[in-house]
Amino acid sequence: MNKTLVAKFGGTSVGNAAAIRQIVAIARAAQPQWRNVAIVVSAMSGVTDALLKGAAAAVAGDENIAEKIAAELLKKHFEALDELAPNAQDVRDFIESALNEFVTLSHAIRVLGEASPRALDAIASLGERMSAPLVAAALRQAGIDSESVDAREIVLTDSVFQSAAPDMEATTRNAQRLIWPLFQAGKVPVLTGFIGAERHGAVTTLGRGGSDFSGAIFGVALDADEVWIYTDVTGVMTTDPRIDPRARTIPELAFREISELAFYGAKVLHPKSIRPVIEKGITLWVKNTFVPNEPGTRIVSDGEAQLGDIRAVTAFKGQSIITVEGRGMIGIPGIAARTFGAVAREKTSIVMISQASSEQSICFVVPNSNADLVLKALEEEFKLELNRRDIDSIRKSTETAIITIVGAGMRSTPGLAGKILTATGNAKINVIAIAQGSSECSISLVVEAADAQKAVLAIHELIVG
Ligand code: ASP
Ligand code: MG
Repeated sequence: MNKTLVAKFGGTSVGNAAAIRQIVAIARAAQPQWRNVAIVVSAMSGVTDALLKGAAAAVAGDENIAEKIAAELLKKHFEALDELAPNAQDVRDFIESALNEFVTLSHAIRVLGEASPRALDAIASLGERMSAPLVAAALRQAGIDSESVDAREIVLTDSVFQSAAPDMEATTRNAQRLIWPLFQAGKVPVLTGFIGAERHGAVTTLGRGGSDFSGAIFGVALDADEVWIYTDVTGVMTTDPRIDPRARTIPELAFREISELAFYGAKVLHPKSIRPVIEKGITLWVKNTFVPNEPGTRIVSDGEAQLGDIRAVTAFKGQSIITVEGRGMIGIPGIAARTFGAVAREKTSIVMISQASSEQSICFVVPNSNADLVLKALEEEFKLELNRRDIDSIRKSTETAIITIVGAGMRSTPGLAGKILTATGNAKINVIAIAQGSSECSISLVVEAADAQKAVLAIHELIVG
């Protein structure tokens, strides 16, 4: 029998009674295979957003919105509880008191007229603190001995509210002390994702979407053999199925491939959140709560990765190309450094860079929303050079999209870039710029935003065609 499994369920997987029934079924199926099963949960879908919306309204002076949201959230949780564990009065009381806490905190925020990151974490944490007891009650009702555990007791973090980092040593010690006894008693612990506590006990969160990170943290702290991340799609897909319905699940993906996909905007696991699991050699699966019999995608370390062809293609919209151009730039050192320095001062991250070898221009891609800020900063930086006509122009393009093609085997497969460009050429797509990722497992093309969909379809054809 396998030893320890950590299964993490995202917001839609705990989104209502029907979804939580799926979790019960998954836990029941896992129990004969695994000596220990731990579950990590997100807040019910939409709850974190709603809580933070209430807090924002309170900052703006409106408290009624928080009260209305509290009533809606009460209804949402009670509806699920009524179906799953109607007699769990303790859980009902707990949810009610958590939402009272939300209203009290919102009141304090309205009086103060501001919400510190610390206060926002106290509010955001309530979603997971409500969902975990709910899921544990559903498991107990179905005859699976279970107990919810508040991660504040286990995950010790620094005090960077809204983006806290765990102290893995202390967290591991706490997990062994508090969770192992539950395993030994034959219980399935249901742990709150997303949250922890700093050393004075104040609640922290790991950042939005942080419950995947929690899954990884508990996987490492409990020395799990496998971590399963459950979501509402089957693993990582070859492309967004809304763009091409022929998209299919990728059976195996290397860590650096998923990193590249995440960097270019695909809604997949954040590499930072799963790195601890990969580094420890724990097997990681991305699975679908609603189609639990499909294996999903296995994430492996870069060394283990099978070399293949193209694995996935994604479109990252809302980008602009900034071009700094001038014949006077030739041979002058430091232009690139000053360019990127000015961009960094605007706290804008550069998504892609290419410099023409003639050194007459530097072009790079930034989010459209920051393009004007960046232009201004560059005009300021290069005032003198612009006056002297060493630099002729600094300009931004219309909105573009970055199309990224990922596959760890690309570096050893000659002609792949040619195949990709032939595909886009045949589809009559104008490729504005092209760059190969430094990890050599991705190629990115910049195209007009209006061509993004067509480009993805043309390249995806190379995968599924
Ligand atoms: N509930 C948190 C959020 O919405 C964490 C998560 O779902 O991963 O950001
Ligand atoms: Mg999530």
